[in-house]
Amino acid sequence: MRGLVLKSTGKWYEVLAEDGEHWQCRIRGKFRMKGLRTTNPISVGDHVIFEDEESEGRGVIKEIEARKNYIIRKSVNLSKEAHIVASNVDQAFLFATVKLPRTSVGFIDRFLVTAEAYSIKAIVVFNKIDLLDEEGKEELGFLVKTYESVGYEVRQISAETGEGTQELYDELAGKTNMLTGHSGVGKSTFVNKTNPGLNIKTDEISELYKKGKHTTTNAEMHILDNGGYIIDTPGIKGFGIVDIPKNELHHYFPEMFALLPDCKFHNCLHIGEPKCAVKVAVENGQVPESRYKSYTTMYSDDEDETYRSGY
Ligand code: GDP
Ligand code: ZN
Repeated sequence: MRGLVLKSTGKWYEVLAEDGEHWQCRIRGKFRMKGLRTTNPISVGDHVIFEDEESEGRGVIKEIEARKNYIIRKSVNLSKEAHIVASNVDQAFLFATVKLPRTSVGFIDRFLVTAEAYSIKAIVVFNKIDLLDEEGKEELGFLVKTYESVGYEVRQISAETGEGTQELYDELAGKTNMLTGHSGVGKSTFVNKTNPGLNIKTDEISELYKKGKHTTTNAEMHILDNGGYIIDTPGIKGFGIVDIPKNELHHYFPEMFALLPDCKFHNCLHIGEPKCAVKVAVENGQVPESRYKSYTTMYSDDEDETYRSGY
């Protein structure tokens, strides 16, 4: 049978079979994916083939289907090994707010870079638009323009008043989604209002984590009424960690990478090289200044040769 891993608790995996039945599955003996050293062989979001264990509702996982992508976290003790937080993520929505709290562009850009590195489609959702006065609306308009101009999709909603929420909810249908963003930006309000049966409490979970009660937390998939899935990653900020060599960092700013052929040097890093097309584009407003600033800030982050994302 084929199924989707919804949750892992130690040895057992909760698997949703294609017919809608839930199974408790385990693996037998050694089970390792080739080429990847991980602390967990199977993660939430994996598609697996499993067999009935001749005990009701219990099965044995025989095979994992190839992953489209996966997000990882470096394990604390074994630095070479990674923990797969979730796999086969279709899209990630970053919840951001102009007010209460204010989300910085640096934070948004770090999220976008990480999504690029993981090859996950990223969408920026500005929530709490009901709170904005004229000045706030202007600022929002500027941010929307900034991100749309570099090729990202942007949504504007109010989870409180319901403006734009149904449309956003419809986008989650049939997909595996990550909802992320600072605490207090309205993720749980959005989910609970569009999908009342679910009752996700993101704050409560992260509070527990902060107090150190959950040193290892496992991701979990919630099933939405519309057939979509939301990956809940308690205690893990955003995407976890991905290391990007500094000299490749500009590949993850699509609007800058697109200009590379126009730079004088084929290996231009756009940091002060002569005849740099990115520099020119920033000066004439084609590349948003805030994006370039995020790039240079990330580039000069630490002395290291790698940028350790985790936003
Ligand atoms: P989370 O930590 O991202 O899950 O944020 P919550 O959903 O817990 O929301 C934090 C606070 O913001 C709550 O008091 C919500 O009622 C409020 N909130 C959420 N969305 C909106 C919105 O669109 N407008 C306004 N005015 N408040 C909102
Ligand atoms: Zn350049």
